Amino acid sequence: MAKTYVGQILKQVREELKLSIPSPKYELLILPLKIGDITDNAVTLLATGEKHIEWLREEFWERLVHAFSQALGKPAELHVVVDTEAADQRAEQPGGMQPLSKVLPQANRAIPRPLLNPRFTFEHFVVGPSNQFCWSAAKAVAERPGYAYNPLFIYGGVGLGKTHLLHSIGHRVTQLYPNYKVVYVTSERFTSDFIEKVRGGRMNEFHQRYRQCDLLLIDDIQFIAGKVETQMEFYHTFMSLVDTGKQIVISSDSSPQDMKGIESRLVSRFGSGLLVDIEPPPVETRTAILRKKAELEGAAISDEVARFIAENVHSNIRELEGALIRLLAFCDFSGSKPTIEVAHRMLADFMKGQRGRRFLSMEQIAQATCEVFRVSANLIMGRDRRKKVAEARMVIMYLAREHTNLTLSQIGEEVGGRDHSTVSHGVSKIAQAMDEDPYLKQMVQQVIRKLS
Ligand code: ADP
Ligand code: MG
Repeated sequence: MAKTYVGQILKQVREELKLSIPSPKYELLILPLKIGDITDNAVTLLATGEKHIEWLREEFWERLVHAFSQALGKPAELHVVVDTEAADQRAEQPGGMQPLSKVLPQANRAIPRPLLNPRFTFEHFVVGPSNQFCWSAAKAVAERPGYAYNPLFIYGGVGLGKTHLLHSIGHRVTQLYPNYKVVYVTSERFTSDFIEKVRGGRMNEFHQRYRQCDLLLIDDIQFIAGKVETQMEFYHTFMSLVDTGKQIVISSDSSPQDMKGIESRLVSRFGSGLLVDIEPPPVETRTAILRKKAELEGAAISDEVARFIAENVHSNIRELEGALIRLLAFCDFSGSKPTIEVAHRMLADFMKGQRGRRFLSMEQIAQATCEVFRVSANLIMGRDRRKKVAEARMVIMYLAREHTNLTLSQIGEEVGGRDHSTVSHGVSKIAQAMDEDPYLKQMVQQVIRKLS
């Protein structure tokens, strides 16, 4: 990769963005960006920290993709990572911003703040009969961590608000107890962190991170299924925290008894505090959620429109939000008001998708996905682990889950004989990745358009 080429691309991108991004934001968020690597159309950007990445993704991602695509003369695929060198230097300067991943919990250092979504708070959570109990338990725990119920174990289907509640607890505890060390982690991250620290002979860092905190929020615990060593480590983490009166909150897609591949001593610990389940919300709560989300987006929708969407989109709250965002985006760029007619027109496809679920076959889904991702069907069935292939395979699992009546095991059979936990993992991974990666989301939408 020639240095001058990279320099030119960066210059061009900056010039383009400078025209459309107001100057304080441009200076804060765009100027500090560096290019780590360009290979063909894939560009890796270096950001100054996790927060920087979050802001870029929230506000400027599409413009960045566009600007890079123009500069490269082909559709760019953007990735962004923390520039560890720059971050290390900053950490050495007094008062410098420290990337959270780099901060080691040492007694005399400032308490690192957990990375929590600012929108996932108790205030933004709409309470109804399906989640009332869960919400009260979460609040009780947040107000008196380590006292009320330990562990608090929250379980329920995809997109029903588990992560939202875990983050809410994290926010509340950080407000009420500024000295508390709060750790939020998915079980996958816990696993990869564990493997990395074992390999690097740095288990003491691992223990410091997870055993010396006041609140451990661990999301989607189901992904430690079948991982014997991680489970053992988690068991000891768990015991050490509970023994010292520290709070643990766990989320999972199913109740402890229904989890497969988890050691029985862990299952019994999971059930030793308070178990609460979160259910799909009824139409009144869905309507209230839509109104709240619209308000957060700075838009107003009438009761009638909210009710119309809520009645027609019932799978889960993530999809409900998707429908709303789509409607608001349409109104935004067409200058129309979100009336019931517009909602009807805009959501026709969406609802057809919902009703039409049953009619899609596995072959159709696989074929359309392979075309959009440019991967051959043989690779999908095989063991190829390259990112593009693995991603396409998981997208097929995700779409099959959404648009067929097949069970996880049946879907697994159709994509090269994979087991149900691999499929469950793939489905959640794509659901989450789409939230974070607009490019992937676009690809998936392209597949859906092909199928409709
Ligand atoms: P899960 O972790 O259970 O899969 P999430 O917590 O990620 O689900 O929720 C999916 C989306 O739905 C998030 O954007 C979240 O803010 C929203 N959501 C879920 N439940 C509620 C609720 N009761 N009130 C407001 N928003 C909600
Ligand atoms: Mg979640």
